[in-house]
Amino acid sequence: MLRLDLHTHSKYSLDSSLEVEALLKTAARRGIHGISISDHNSLRGSEAALELGRDHGLIIVRGMEVSSAQGHILAYGLDEEVPRGLSAGETVERIAEFGGFAVAAHPHRFWSGMGEDVARSAGLHAIEVLNARSIAGHNERAEAFADELGLPGTAGSDAHGLADVGKAIVLLPENLESEEDVLTALKRGRGRTAGVSRDWRRTGRYVATSVSNWILRGFRKI
Ligand SMILES: [Zn+2]
Ligand SMILES: [Zn+2]
Repeated sequence: MLRLDLHTHSKYSLDSSLEVEALLKTAARRGIHGISISDHNSLRGSEAALELGRDHGLIIVRGMEVSSAQGHILAYGLDEEVPRGLSAGETVERIAEFGGFAVAAHPHRFWSGMGEDVARSAGLHAIEVLNARSIAGHNERAEAFADELGLPGTAGSDAHGLADVGKAIVLLPENLESEEDVLTALKRGRGRTAGVSRDWRRTGRYVATSVSNWILRGFRKI
């Protein structure tokens, strides 16, 4: 099976300082076959990855994590940035217009997840059912919710540090070679997921860091 980490953050996200090259190198070393650098409101990490990906033998899935007014939405396979701050439905529409694939990121996460009511009516193409920075309960609910909606599931580490790269992955059949192949297989529901959820012992520190970063950013949400 091919292993893909579809949710990572490089230095083009306000809350990560990782070099794209370091992310790709780490992923390849851990036996990952494909990756999406899905920076907050920016395609710059993906653009850099496209240039470097071949050197590392990785399938690069272009992506960004759009801050809609109602929660984070992962947008894959597009070459134009979707602006932040639109409603979830408008964001998904815009992603679809650009030929992209719209996924509710960590839908049950407090504050940055869109929640089930919004997700039900947003016209999403898939749900992120395993995010290595979400607690197990939230991932379990996301999995059940995707089943209920009859939508495919995706997974990713949401890595903001190299230690987390590859902690949650999508498994796809071997014979895929390109971003288009990957997205088509995901749409057809051929993806399986594997990985870990957030460890409870790390949660306290994560919340503390998030809040202090938020204060440092002048109380602006990412
Ligand atoms: Zn997010
Ligand atoms: Zn993220």
